[in-house]
Amino acid sequence: MTAVAARYFDGRSSRLQHVTLSVEAGHAVLRGDAERREPLHALRVSERSRGAARKVTFADGAYLEVDDHEAFARLLHETGHRDSLVVRLQQSWRAVLAAAAATVALLWLGYLYLLPALATGMAAALPAGVERQLGAGVLALMDQRLLVPTTLSPQRQAELTGRFRSLQPPRGGAPGWRLLFRSSRIGPNAFALPSGDIVLTDQMVQLLNNDTAVLAVLAHELGHLHEHHGMRRLIQGSVVTAVSGLVFGDMSALMATAPALLLDMKYSRDAEQDADDYAVAMMLHNGLGVQPLVDVFSRLQQLEQQRGGDMGYLSSHPPSSERLARLRAAAAR
Ligand SMILES: [Zn+2]
Repeated sequence: MTAVAARYFDGRSSRLQHVTLSVEAGHAVLRGDAERREPLHALRVSERSRGAARKVTFADGAYLEVDDHEAFARLLHETGHRDSLVVRLQQSWRAVLAAAAATVALLWLGYLYLLPALATGMAAALPAGVERQLGAGVLALMDQRLLVPTTLSPQRQAELTGRFRSLQPPRGGAPGWRLLFRSSRIGPNAFALPSGDIVLTDQMVQLLNNDTAVLAVLAHELGHLHEHHGMRRLIQGSVVTAVSGLVFGDMSALMATAPALLLDMKYSRDAEQDADDYAVAMMLHNGLGVQPLVDVFSRLQQLEQQRGGDMGYLSSHPPSSERLARLRAAAAR
C-alpha cells in the first residue's frame, strides 16, 4: 500500500499540516497532523505540469499539495486514475515543440506556395470590371495625394503614346492599356494599375531623357499588366477580404482597402523578373534591343546613389546588381 507525503491546507486558514495520503477501499485517507477520509470521486486531481506540486482538492475547499510526483503517479495508477492524452502530450516538451514547428512549417508552406497560387487563380478569374473599379479607385486616391497634372504638352504625350502603341506585344495579345501622364511628388515613377492604366510621371521622362528607354519602362509595366501582378499582389495582401468577397459576391470590403494596399505595393522579386522578361521580349520583338532597359536601371541606380535612396520607383523597382546582371546578359545575347 503506497502512502505519499503531502501538505494539507484546510482551505480556511493558511496553516500547513503534514500528512500522508493513501488510498483504502475507494477512499483517500489522510493521517498525521490532520485525519480525514473521503471517497475518491469527491476529490479533484490537478493536471500534471512540470515543476509545480500536484494538487488534490476536496469538495469543501481543503486541498493537498504533493511534491513527490513519482510516488503520487504510482498511487494514482493503483486507483485506476489516468491522465488524459492531452496532459501526457503536454508533458513532453519535445512533442510541444514538434507540434509548434509543424504548425509554423505548414503556415510558411501555405504562404510560399498556396497563397501565390490561389492569388494567381483568383486574379485570372476576377471579372474585368473588378480590376477596372479597383484601378480607378487607386488612381483617384493617388491624384489626390501624390500626383499633379502633367506639364508635358498634348503633342509630346501623343508622341510617346503613339510610339508605344506602335510596338507589337511579344506574345499573345497585349493586355488593354491606357497611358496616363502625371507630374509627381514622388519623383521619377511609372506604375501599372489593375485597370490597365499605366501612369508615367514627367520626372521619369526627364530623368531617362531618351524615348526608347521610356518605351522600355512602359514595356516593363505592360509585363506587370500581362501577368495581373497588381491584382495578385493585392489579393495576397488582403486574402481574407478577397476570399470573402468572392464567396459572398460582395467586393466592397476589398474596394475599401485596395487603394492603401496598392499604394505601398512592392512586387515580389519573381514578379519583377517576369516583368523584366516581358520587357526584354518586347524590346527584342520590335528590334529595339535590350540596352535601353539596361540604361533605365543603371540610370535609376545612379540616382539612388546620388540621393541615398528614394521612394517611388526605386523602392518598388530596386535596380539591384542582380537585376542589372540579368538584363546585361539578355542584352549580350
Ligand atoms: Zn516592376
